[in-house]
Amino acid sequence: MADGVFVHQGKHVAVDDPARGDSANLGVVVGQRCAAVIDTGGSAATGRALRAAVAALTPLPVCYVINTHAHFDHLLGNAAFADSGARFVGHQELPAAVAASEEYFSEHFAAERAGDTHPLLPADGVWVANATRLDLGGRELLVSAVPKAHSSADLTVLDAATGTLFTGDLVFMARLPVLDGSLRGWLAWLDAAQAQTLARIVPGHGPVSAPWPAAAAPERAYLEALQREARAAIKAGDFLEDVLARAEATPPAGWMLTGPHPRNMSKAFREFEWD
Ligand SMILES: [Zn+2]
Repeated sequence: MADGVFVHQGKHVAVDDPARGDSANLGVVVGQRCAAVIDTGGSAATGRALRAAVAALTPLPVCYVINTHAHFDHLLGNAAFADSGARFVGHQELPAAVAASEEYFSEHFAAERAGDTHPLLPADGVWVANATRLDLGGRELLVSAVPKAHSSADLTVLDAATGTLFTGDLVFMARLPVLDGSLRGWLAWLDAAQAQTLARIVPGHGPVSAPWPAAAAPERAYLEALQREARAAIKAGDFLEDVLARAEATPPAGWMLTGPHPRNMSKAFREFEWD
């Protein structure tokens, strides 16, 4: 996709689809000393396929496995790298977020975790509070922890050499964004990030590469509409169940997989209720 930058495109499938184990975009950046993997996919099998794909790209070892957040589609492939010698990298809230999801993962993703006997995260990873640089040999990745936005543990990865920003699910394209953190925080991140000059971004879902900041325009429009509608409903004194019924009946236009829309609305409503 760019010099030393590779991306695998995830499929646009719903969370209950049999192909859900391969639904997120996954990145690889190769330096002179070693390579970094950005997200590992939604199943142990996807993680193994990714590891094999990296081995076909470069004889260099994988020195970092970076998780952009704790959602299943980005990290159930971690186990495939447990014995690779790579260091695991994530937001400082990542271990807590994964621990909180363990039960959900084992209940709902048994097939995806089949053959996976390792914990999803090692005890001694690089847990980023603010920002850190990872050296791949002649090439640095700038890893930045983001305050609560799409989720509680979002992380971006900038490959300065090519001006490529891996946004994880801070940017959704094509399929509807899923709000699991803070709508206010997500819009604040978009404000700050949109001022950045980048050659391209790699969204968590959507094309392997997209121009910036144009790539975020549909997501911003959706999140702003969500904010507007939630605030209007609160102002009008609407009940949450009526707001949800309305969201169910009127899915947003222009997006694939709009199933999460009512849940997003409920999240937004509860976030702004106390303003
Ligand atoms: Zn995702």
